[in-house]
Amino acid sequence: MAVAKTGLYLQSSVSALRGVGPALVQRLQRMDLWRVQDILFHLPTRYQDRRLICPIAALQPGQECAVLGEIVSINHQRGRREQWLVTLSDGSGCLQIRLFHMVAALRGQWQVGRRLWCFGDLRGGFHGLEMVHPEWQMADVPQFQAPRHLTPFYPSSEGITQAQWRRWVAQALTLLDQLPDYLEDRLPPHWPSLREGLRLLHESADEIPSPQHPASQRLALEELLANHLAVRRMRQPGAMQNAPCLHSDGQLWQRFLAQLPFVLTGAQERVIAEINVDLARHRPMRRLLQGDVGSGKTLVAAAAALTALEAGYQVVLMAPTEILAEQLYTRFQQWLKPLDWEAGYLVGSRPPRARRETLEALASGRLGLVTGTQALFQEEVEFSRLGLVIIDEQHRFGVEQRRQLLEKGAMPHLLVMTATPIPRTLAMTVHADLEVSVIDALPPGRTPVETLVMPDSRRPQLIGRMQHMLEEGRQIYWVCPLIEESEILELQAAEASFADLQSTLPGVTIGLIHGRMRAAEKAEVMAAFQSGAVRILVATTVIEVGVDVPNASLMVVEHAERLGLAQLHQLRGRVGRGAQQSSCILLYHPPLSSKARERLRVMRETHDGFVIARKDLELRGPGEYLGTRQTGILQMRVADILRDEALLTLVPVLAEQLLREDPDAAQAIVQRWLGNRLDYGQVG
Ligand code: ADP
Ligand code: MG
Repeated sequence: MAVAKTGLYLQSSVSALRGVGPALVQRLQRMDLWRVQDILFHLPTRYQDRRLICPIAALQPGQECAVLGEIVSINHQRGRREQWLVTLSDGSGCLQIRLFHMVAALRGQWQVGRRLWCFGDLRGGFHGLEMVHPEWQMADVPQFQAPRHLTPFYPSSEGITQAQWRRWVAQALTLLDQLPDYLEDRLPPHWPSLREGLRLLHESADEIPSPQHPASQRLALEELLANHLAVRRMRQPGAMQNAPCLHSDGQLWQRFLAQLPFVLTGAQERVIAEINVDLARHRPMRRLLQGDVGSGKTLVAAAAALTALEAGYQVVLMAPTEILAEQLYTRFQQWLKPLDWEAGYLVGSRPPRARRETLEALASGRLGLVTGTQALFQEEVEFSRLGLVIIDEQHRFGVEQRRQLLEKGAMPHLLVMTATPIPRTLAMTVHADLEVSVIDALPPGRTPVETLVMPDSRRPQLIGRMQHMLEEGRQIYWVCPLIEESEILELQAAEASFADLQSTLPGVTIGLIHGRMRAAEKAEVMAAFQSGAVRILVATTVIEVGVDVPNASLMVVEHAERLGLAQLHQLRGRVGRGAQQSSCILLYHPPLSSKARERLRVMRETHDGFVIARKDLELRGPGEYLGTRQTGILQMRVADILRDEALLTLVPVLAEQLLREDPDAAQAIVQRWLGNRLDYGQVG
């Protein structure tokens, strides 16, 4: 039983723990462990079972196990690197133990003929299996006791040993009664307490605690809640800050609608109304607009933009690629011209003069709306009255970028648009600072895209089918995806396919577009495809998102096995925009990995963006799914946003309650789980 120093509190510095001197304090602080309470929340990542003694003959490299045997030889090597090579035999075989140092006081214990118990990692050494610096006890003394319990294994660095962690945790556990349980009264009585959860993880004696164990779930719930609360805090400073009230009587919008060749869908109207309510408030809007590919999000953006313009504020429209930014620019230019407004265009590749002019027009307030890529935020772009930022097709648009944006000083309204639905798990955690609007219906007259998956050996039949479609006046996308992250290889593949199609389909005008072309060249090819002059567009993945050419009704994707689900879904969404039956053909090059097979199966079986996004998250895991920047938030200790999805329904409810009734408790929960990893919470 560990005895705590007197006057030890959970809020004491870690220096108050026995065995923690000034040097260790610093090392612990580097691990973001400052107070005794932080040690309590430093949870084991796994458990070692040292109870079972393994026969040496059955050992495998890479295993971690306990062995009991007799020391048959000790070879003490001096020289440049002093070491002891000890051979242990248990009758079934021999194991080598290698020690590079030996505490002087314990040296006398190492004698040939003695019985030794040891535990460690096995690796294949020069003389067969060996253990380097195992934990050990002599087994032929009365006080020897083979471990009878599981041993928790703590994440460590800074050279801190497992034994140290265990001693400190034991001291911290004596203070468990001091730990307030903020959820006890808010959860149904069958829920275990926070203390039970912590005890389960730190003190499991006989059985490795299951993540499904109610006490584990209690911890997971609180961890999810802590993350949710932390991200939500980004919304809070905004709540106090004033955003411009973007209120208009909708005249501009009415004039815009009058020139539109179709009527809005009910879903578009509803979402536009939601956004307009937000814009008219002082609290800055933080809204995520989800709508499947082709659902007409651009019009919603236009509605919001016109409200802002009419209210006398500037609008930024940001797209993930230059091609898309350019498309948006062209579209808005067309829409705005008749209304006597102008759109500007700002991407890295613009000539310096045009760029400078645009910048000046923005700073002076002469220019109302600018489209561009993310570079817009990294640079010194100044606005005179920025009121609204719209970000298109950026489901990866992360917490970090949202923060950057807010740091620009102004407190504009923000609308993030995406065709890739955010699975509920992420909406509750990483994106908890956003409110969500959904366009849940496509414009009328669309026919679902038929999806075929076939090996690339069937290319000749495919060419036949393409010929047929071209005769009917249709247009075709032919996409060559990324090869091992290399733009040059990707380009070569696209050029090869381009040449190949030209020779198999003589007389057909084929265009080629890729990321290495100058913006003007790209624009030219896109325009030719849009007008119908180019019949087949061979492209690298630059056309992945947002491109809109309704007459294109066949999408061929080469090496579809290389693409993720979100990308495939985006690509497929490029067709099926007109009334005619469209198809998407996913060519793969065998053999298929099991994950690739699964992805292609999902694509064939569903068009539901939510199903696809959820599956994507499952196959790739949250870290990769979100991109590297945001993974920090998802390094949870107990919770797993996929496995514990069921807990997420409770999270926002508890969060609301706490923020309303006990904001200090909310703060304390965030602090105990996330400590100082909270920079993103201090925005504003
Ligand atoms: P996404 O949501 O993928 O960004 P877009 O805004 O590019 O979709 O719209 C896809 C296509 O649907 C465009 O050609 C657009 O003009 C058209 N569209 C948008 N709204 C409607 C509507 N209400 N009725 C008919 N067509 C529409
Ligand atoms: Mg779009």
